Amino acid sequence: MAGIIVKPRSRIFHGHDWVYTSEVHKTFGKPEPGEVISVKDFKDRKLGTAIYNPESQIIARRFSRRTQELNHDFFIRRFERALALRNSMSFDDDVYRLTWSESDGLPGVIIDRYGDHLVLQTLTLAMDQRKDLITQALVQIFSPKSIIERNDSPIRKAEGLPLEKGLLYGEAPGIFQVTVQGIAFAVDPLDGHKTGLYLDQFDNYQAVGDLAKGRRVLDCFCNEAGFALHCARSGAQSVQAIDSSETALDCAQKNASNNQLDIEFTNANVFDFLKTTDSETPPYDLIILDPPSFTRNRKSVKDAMRGYKEIHLRALKLLDKDGILATFCCSHHVNRQMFLDTICDAAVDAKSSLRLLSSHSQRQDHPVLPLIPESEYLKGFIFQKMAAW
Ligand code: SAH
Repeated sequence: MAGIIVKPRSRIFHGHDWVYTSEVHKTFGKPEPGEVISVKDFKDRKLGTAIYNPESQIIARRFSRRTQELNHDFFIRRFERALALRNSMSFDDDVYRLTWSESDGLPGVIIDRYGDHLVLQTLTLAMDQRKDLITQALVQIFSPKSIIERNDSPIRKAEGLPLEKGLLYGEAPGIFQVTVQGIAFAVDPLDGHKTGLYLDQFDNYQAVGDLAKGRRVLDCFCNEAGFALHCARSGAQSVQAIDSSETALDCAQKNASNNQLDIEFTNANVFDFLKTTDSETPPYDLIILDPPSFTRNRKSVKDAMRGYKEIHLRALKLLDKDGILATFCCSHHVNRQMFLDTICDAAVDAKSSLRLLSSHSQRQDHPVLPLIPESEYLKGFIFQKMAAW
């Protein structure tokens, strides 16, 4: 097997599974892009087996500490382990993330399960080359009605892969419904945002909904209105939801009427909406901020932090006393502390004191590996704006 020798002090010696180009001491045996390679230390000791892509800054991703081929049996074993973990978590209607990349020993493979329909992303070259093997293994285990490919994530460009989507197996399902935590959602696996729903947020919908009774709620960046629907069901006094995407709002509106819940939808840019909303008494008692990632790379983090600060400042001003701010950040490049610091900066400018009620993360079907910090991306906090003492 061809491979690489890794420089001393590289992150792989600290429990990570990635090797950056700058961490390679030597390449041996001329590996091809997408090939399975051996990873060794400078004393020729084996560190495991990895997938290789010289076009990516992350030149190798270890998927096993042993010698291992990427064959049919490998995918069957990995999918069965991933399934066993999800089965132990019990999700409604079999709606969950079945594999979360490195966290399931499958770097770049993300599969969302909506009952009989599977949605696949192959975000690394090696896994993309093995899409057929993956599809065959999934068919063997799940006998699904469809497998959809949602490889339109811009992350693929870092691996030199084209953006594409389509049907890999079975019949295209169109738009269908799933019921999660007692609320019906429309799922559009081929054309919806991401793979259909934001599965990572489902526990957080419930946590925010639990606080909504009797409150005037504003759900910013609502997409399919998961937060708004839960708040309305929990007996909020009023619920308003904002998004700038017509298709997201169409879907959200259908969800509201299918669940017979009353939500006022507004098509607007949240930045403008929060800026121009003005009234003598602050109009809301619960504001949810769940924006898209404001940064796709490290270079734009500073600008992104300005954006995060701005929406928090505006939201705090629109929040009545004892009001609740539920805020989320899904950017890979912004860590929990940076996010918290930015919220604190906004609170200082808004002359508000905040009480932290709870901290949140992605749902447990997106498991976090503490030695691979990149496996955690969703950070959330629920605060109460404290009345002046
Ligand atoms: N809370 C949602 C997920 C939000 S995803 C859920 O749980 O499903 C981000 C959403 O923000 C997308 O629906 C996108 O259309 C919307 N969006 C992006 N930029 C926006 C802006 N400036 N103003 C309003 N909506 C925006």
